[in-house]
Amino acid sequence: MRYLPLFFDLSKGPVILVGAGAEARAKLRILQAAGAAIRWHVLSRDDANNAYAKDVELRIGLPGADDFLGAVALVASAGRDIDEELAARSRAMNVPVNIVDRPDLSTFIFPSIVDRGDVVVAIGTGGASPVLARRLRETIEQLLPERIGEFAALMGRYRDRLHALRHRGFSTRQFWERVIDGPIGTLFLAGRSARAEAALILAIERAGLDAPKQGHVQIVGAGPGDPDLLTLKALHALQSADIVFTDDLVSPDILSRVRRDAEIVHVGKRKGQPGIGQEAINRRLVAEAKAGRKVVRLKGGDPFIFGRGGEEREALEEEGIAVTVVPGITAALGCAAEAGLPLTFRKEATRLSIVTANTAEGAEKIDWSGLTDRATTVAVYMGLTTASAVRDGLVAAGRDPRTPVAVLARGTRPDSHAITGTLSHLPALAAAAGQGPALIVVGDVVAHSRAWKEAVGHLEAAE
Ligand code: SAH
Repeated sequence: MRYLPLFFDLSKGPVILVGAGAEARAKLRILQAAGAAIRWHVLSRDDANNAYAKDVELRIGLPGADDFLGAVALVASAGRDIDEELAARSRAMNVPVNIVDRPDLSTFIFPSIVDRGDVVVAIGTGGASPVLARRLRETIEQLLPERIGEFAALMGRYRDRLHALRHRGFSTRQFWERVIDGPIGTLFLAGRSARAEAALILAIERAGLDAPKQGHVQIVGAGPGDPDLLTLKALHALQSADIVFTDDLVSPDILSRVRRDAEIVHVGKRKGQPGIGQEAINRRLVAEAKAGRKVVRLKGGDPFIFGRGGEEREALEEEGIAVTVVPGITAALGCAAEAGLPLTFRKEATRLSIVTANTAEGAEKIDWSGLTDRATTVAVYMGLTTASAVRDGLVAAGRDPRTPVAVLARGTRPDSHAITGTLSHLPALAAAAGQGPALIVVGDVVAHSRAWKEAVGHLEAAE
């Protein structure tokens, strides 16, 4: 380690800034963001006329000996000779100094910064590669939950109150760990700050009464298959889980992103195979949360689209367990994007219906009457094995049998496959889809898709 990162309290005195060029101005912005009282020295009247900055004490000419007294730091980019002299003077006066791009003259350097209010991350490469530092900063930006700074501020506001309650055998450290890792943290980071704060107040009131610890459940959408289509929130959930209950639909690529030490339980309900049953899943989710674990219920696509996320959420809430839902990219959106198939299109397709062909009464009983209009795109989930009933139902209700259709199999996965044709041929197209999940899209928009255009190209070439 060549440099030790330290956090300066810039409210303790003025920061002297010297120079009027782009480098000096960049430093001005950083210092202002950190709330510094800045004394900005520029070297000419012209520079002064161009130095627009709010809440800054502007001076013309170099800082004199008096100016150094009490200054927290000096930052300069004013030309070689002046910089060298300023650095020497600062050192003589024991004022920390940074000369822009001159580590040899500086006693400190500026790190790359991730700024989330009270949470600040400093990244340095010892000056070796600012580009690498910037890359690392981008990575950390993505990893940190958006509201982490506000969350830190919330805990800061209640620190004293908890401290006052300190008594023998009560660990404030464990208390804050439970807040951060438990339902309060999850709720706050999910944007439900009022509820999180209420729960925190309650927890502080109960602190030391040995309140039983309770876990929480996050019902998380895993998207259609490609792990890059996970949301950042879903990734955070996977990386902090103690136990993950997953459906068969979730791809191995996604499960590989789960925290290493977490337990993974497959509770999938494959078509034709029973799985462990919804009741049993609900019971296990409740039991794990009550045992204080961080539970993730992982579902393909979005949990609230044919995912039974609604039922699970209600069952958990009835048991008084904190639940949050993390949305996922549903199959229709993932598959359509991959196939270059716009689900709506100006003037042509003004409505999108998401329907399931797997109803309790059977596919033959589905009411297709509202879906026959040309401007309606129909995305049919779970329709592969009942494709003839889907076609028969739609045509009988009045949809044109020449309507373009697509069967999008294993969308966004490495072995995805798109087949297009017309509604009258849907059963044959479905039969060619192969194993795995597939989505049927019915509507004129299919003619815009890549697979359709390629098929037309082949026909024209054959003619
Ligand atoms: N909650 C999921 C849907 C679960 S129902 C979601 O929002 O996507 C299961 C059906 O979803 C499958 O029968 C299939 O029609 C569709 N499906 C899920 N993943 C898919 C994929 N990768 N490619 C095509 N269809 C998919």
